[in-house]
Amino acid sequence: MSLVSARRLGVLLTSATAVVLLGLSSPVAAAAAPTAPAAPPPGKPLVTTDVKPPTQPVTKRPPTAPGQVDQGVRTIKRNADGSYSMSVYSPAPGVTDQDLYRRLKARGVRDLVNPSQAVTTFDDGSCAWGTSTTAACPRVEWARNGHSHPQIYFNDHTSAAWPVDAAVAKWNQAEGVDSWYRWNSCPNVAGSHCVHVYSANYGETGTVGVTHLQWTGDYFSDGQVSIELNDFYNITAARHRKSTCHELGHALGLGHSSSSGSCMISGAYETLYPDSNDYNLLHDLYQG
Ligand SMILES: [Zn+2]
Repeated sequence: MSLVSARRLGVLLTSATAVVLLGLSSPVAAAAAPTAPAAPPPGKPLVTTDVKPPTQPVTKRPPTAPGQVDQGVRTIKRNADGSYSMSVYSPAPGVTDQDLYRRLKARGVRDLVNPSQAVTTFDDGSCAWGTSTTAACPRVEWARNGHSHPQIYFNDHTSAAWPVDAAVAKWNQAEGVDSWYRWNSCPNVAGSHCVHVYSANYGETGTVGVTHLQWTGDYFSDGQVSIELNDFYNITAARHRKSTCHELGHALGLGHSSSSGSCMISGAYETLYPDSNDYNLLHDLYQG
């Protein structure tokens, strides 16, 4: 190779390298790259179809009060700004409410309500429908913010064991409040609400799930309601489904049910779905 052609090759190489480097480092090129949505892991959809099921007939409020309902283990606190915070803990298999209460206390969890004093008689009829109850009384709901129904997006960050998409679809059958599923995102829809649903191996905490609620006045605080599901316990698929249904129901404003026919019953049941009292109470909560 002659000196001239070697120099020419060198110039060519330098130019090519500069183009490659420019291509890699150019902010224009980076901005122009298409942004694909992050793919969900196996077993999780990215999004489910946002369709409200047909309207169900509303039944008359049952004449009977629900009587006493096991409200489980919870914390409740009035914050300095006047808002309230509540965390509702679901005991793991083999763990009683009292066990869980003691364990949480030992861990330094504050504002715990002793479950032996947490069996509530719902004298206020607006906080119950048949066997179902609201999470708080006076009851708390999600704001419509200009929509015909409150728009709740459940933002799923959980492992494949937790069927959040299926549970959201069941809750979306409730009249008056719309529940939508998204994998690892919440859409930029004005006035909608985002509820984060997490799972992780939180260890032997005594809880399968916990829902954190916060509200001011009659309305939940957007971005301050979240769910944590515990991957530590070796539980059945049915129990995963029940617990997912249960915690989502809390996030919509429901408390516990005294019926083993509802996923809102506390304890070691494997009831997979809400029952008609849950749906009717949600309708009552969100129609007014
Ligand atoms: Zn609960």
